[in-house]
Amino acid sequence: MAIQSTLCHLEKHRYKPVPLHPSAVLIHKSFRSMRFSSYSFQPELSKSIVEAGFVKPTDIQYKAIPPIMKGDDVLAIAQTGTGKTAAFAIPMIHRLSTGKPKTGLRCLVMVPTRELAMQVRGVFDQLGKASNVKAMSIFGGVEQDPQIAGLLKGTDVLVATPGRMFDLVSQGFLKLDAIETLILDEADHMLDLGFIHDIRQLIRLLPQKRQTLFFSATIDAEIKKLAYSLVINPIRIQISPNDPVSKNIDHSVAYISMDDKRFFLERLIREHPDAKVLTFVRTKVRAERVSTALERVGIKSVCMHGDMDQKLRNESMGVFRKGEVQILIATDVSARGIDIPDVNYVVNYDIPEKPENYVHRIGRTGRGTQRGIAVSFCSPDEKPLLDEIAELIGKPIQLLKIDKESYDETVSLSNAVDHDWRKLIAENENVVIKKRKKKKK
Ligand code: ADP
Ligand code: MG
Repeated sequence: MAIQSTLCHLEKHRYKPVPLHPSAVLIHKSFRSMRFSSYSFQPELSKSIVEAGFVKPTDIQYKAIPPIMKGDDVLAIAQTGTGKTAAFAIPMIHRLSTGKPKTGLRCLVMVPTRELAMQVRGVFDQLGKASNVKAMSIFGGVEQDPQIAGLLKGTDVLVATPGRMFDLVSQGFLKLDAIETLILDEADHMLDLGFIHDIRQLIRLLPQKRQTLFFSATIDAEIKKLAYSLVINPIRIQISPNDPVSKNIDHSVAYISMDDKRFFLERLIREHPDAKVLTFVRTKVRAERVSTALERVGIKSVCMHGDMDQKLRNESMGVFRKGEVQILIATDVSARGIDIPDVNYVVNYDIPEKPENYVHRIGRTGRGTQRGIAVSFCSPDEKPLLDEIAELIGKPIQLLKIDKESYDETVSLSNAVDHDWRKLIAENENVVIKKRKKKKK
């Protein structure tokens, strides 16, 4: 039981939190005793926070909520699953529901994917409904008419992906001139090459006097500089700057040849029949292939990638979220921001090409107060990518040693038919060899 036993071993050697520097103790103490009940939020919002089950603010919430309430620009970096959404949603809902009533779209949240747009809108709904703060989301891949109808009715908060947002602006259905706050969630990604043009164009459409908030789990020096150039004297908040990986995640890497990866995935799933396993692959084609390979050995999975239409994407996400199907095979389209409850394992079936995506992929487990395990399957060709990840996270990823016996056992235990053929051929060869030897005698 190579994988299992090594993971049990990891259980015992969980990452221990680094002790706080003495100078931090005072802040630490007051932070630990801080509860949401001691904030003077708008009363309906306070009720919704209780109903959501949030008692104490997380580190990032504790640090980001006051400056956002004041109207400052904020650049906030905190690990995956540490409650960044509520860190901006709570102060925004408070501000939108207090003070002089204003109409029109006042808060715009930009996100990279459709699923994240729905999810972030869901958090605004959950925390803001009782306060009468209206939120809606717009994204591509679905008909635009219902979204236009929603915009015409009016909303306070809009969560959007860039493509559909610009479509609706250019058609005159969306006005951005009353925006008071722009929020970039997954900010480093939104400011990266693929999106920066859109964001610059967007900024030209917004009032000059506005608040801008950046939230992410990762950011490199260059993007940070770019972020600073878009805001005025931002408050910089960075939680655990030396460790971008959430402390709730035990993550390790195993060297497995490309052709054998499916056998190890199969074994991991069989050894953990109740686990929710989110598996990341590099391409859409590989997602389908891995899913088919699992199906052949009797394991049901669903896929999630950019070539699927939105209805199918929603279906996959829905059944995985509910636990009706326990295995989701996804591309990086699901790596950022997605908050699925109870994901026990993240498997990097392929090593991600962008090192920061390692942090985001494995960050789909170990969310909130939960713990999670992530395993990466690294073929010899992928070793350079692994080195880049180690550089980004500032240390090598713990190595899962698989001895030859366990490795061979994993391959031979597979239910794969082609593998049975391999075995049959090998057995046949043995028979032939034995027969030959007998003849010689
Ligand atoms: P991030 O954006 O930092 O990756 P999310 O905002 O998606 O994280 O939140 C991760 C999980 O933590 C969510 O399921 C959320 O409901 C939960 N959460 C957020 N804030 C708190 C809190 N103060 N107490 C308990 N759980 C929280
Ligand atoms: Mg997030």
